[in-house]
Amino acid sequence: MRAIPIDQELVLSADPVVSAVPAVLPQVLAVSRLSPLLAPGLERHFVVHDRLHETDAAALAQQAPQLRGIAAGGESKVSAALIEQLPALEIISVMGVGYDGVDVAAARARGVMVTHTPDVLNDDVADLALGLMLCAARQLPAADRWVREGRWLSGNMPLARKMSGARLGLVGMGRIGQAIASRALAFGMSVSYTARSPRPQLPYTYFVDAAELAAEVDFLVIITPGGAATRHMINAEVLKELGKGQGQGVLVNVARGSVVDEAALIEALEQGVIAGAGLDVFEDEPRVPARLLALPQVVLTPHVGSATAATRQAMADLALDNLLQHFAGRAVRTPVPECR
Ligand code: NAP
Repeated sequence: MRAIPIDQELVLSADPVVSAVPAVLPQVLAVSRLSPLLAPGLERHFVVHDRLHETDAAALAQQAPQLRGIAAGGESKVSAALIEQLPALEIISVMGVGYDGVDVAAARARGVMVTHTPDVLNDDVADLALGLMLCAARQLPAADRWVREGRWLSGNMPLARKMSGARLGLVGMGRIGQAIASRALAFGMSVSYTARSPRPQLPYTYFVDAAELAAEVDFLVIITPGGAATRHMINAEVLKELGKGQGQGVLVNVARGSVVDEAALIEALEQGVIAGAGLDVFEDEPRVPARLLALPQVVLTPHVGSATAATRQAMADLALDNLLQHFAGRAVRTPVPECR
C-alpha cells in the first residue's frame, strides 16, 4: 500500500476542472489492481488506497470515514457490504462499460453515483468479435498450427466454413452490437438480433428471444451485459437451435462468461451440435475448463475485447475524468443508466 499523505495540497492546474477540485485531496479506494494507464493520473489527484479491503480490514475500517470514491475495473466486485462499510462514499468509477460486478441498487440506495466508460471501446470489441468469427469459421489458429507443426508437408487441412454471406444473429443490439452489425454488412452477412425491446429505426430483423434468433442464423454473437438478468441466457436449448443448420452454427461470446451456460456449451461442442466457438469471456476467469481447452474447434482469448493501448488509454482518461468532474462539483460525464 502507498504511504497516505495527510492534507496534501493540490497543485493548481490550468485545467479548469482540475483546479476546481478541493485543496485536500479526496481519498479513493482502488478495488482492483489499477491499470498503469490510470494509476499515475489517479495518484496525482487523489490519495489512493490500493485494495485495502482485501489486504487490511482494520486499516479499511480506520480509513472508511475519509473514503469518498472507489476506482474499479470492469471485472471488479463492489458489493453492498463494501458500500455499507464506507459511510463517506460518493462515487464508484468503473474503467469498463460492463458494471455487473457493482451492486448498483445498493449504491443508489445510498445516493452513490456509479459511472462507466461506454462508447470509447465499441470499435475494439466489435473488431474482436469479427476476428473471433473469422478465426472460428476459417479455423485460423488450427491453420497456423498446421503450418508450424509441419503437417502441411503431408497434406491439406480439412475444408473450413464460409463466413461471407452467412446469417449473423446478435444477442444484444446496443452500442457494441451495432458496431458488430455494421462490420458484418461489409461481409455481405444478413443481420438479425434479440434484445429486451426492438429498435425499429435499425434495418435489422428482431426476434423475441435468443432461441428464436438462434434457429434462424449461422453465427450467434453474444453482446449483452452480464448479471442476473442475462445469466445462462445461452443454454442447451439455444445451442440446439443454433445447430439446426446441419451442426454448422458458430457461437461467439464477447459479453460476459455468465451469459453462456458453459457446461451446456462444452456438451454441444463435444457432441457436434454446433461447429465451433470463439470465446473472449468465461464463467470463472481466468480459469478455463480443461474440456474447453481440449477442443480444437474453439478459439480462446483472455478477455481482451478492449485491450488495445489506444482504447485502454481512452477508458482510463474517461474513468479519471468522471472522478475529477464529480469532486469538482460538476455532472459526471458517463453515469450508468440507473444513475442518470
Ligand atoms: P449497451 O449499449 O447497453 O447494449 C446492451 C444490449 O444488450 C442492448 O441491446 C440491450 O437491449 C441488451 N440487453 C440488456 N439486457 C438484456 C436482457 N436481459 N435480455 C436481452 N437483451 C438485453 O451495452 P454495450 O456498450 O453494447 O456493451 C455490452 C456489454 O459488452 C457490456 O455490458 C459488457 O458486459 C460487454 N463488454 C465486453 C468486453 C470484453 O472485453 N469482452 C468489452 C466491453 C464490453 P435493450 O436495448 O432492449 O435494453
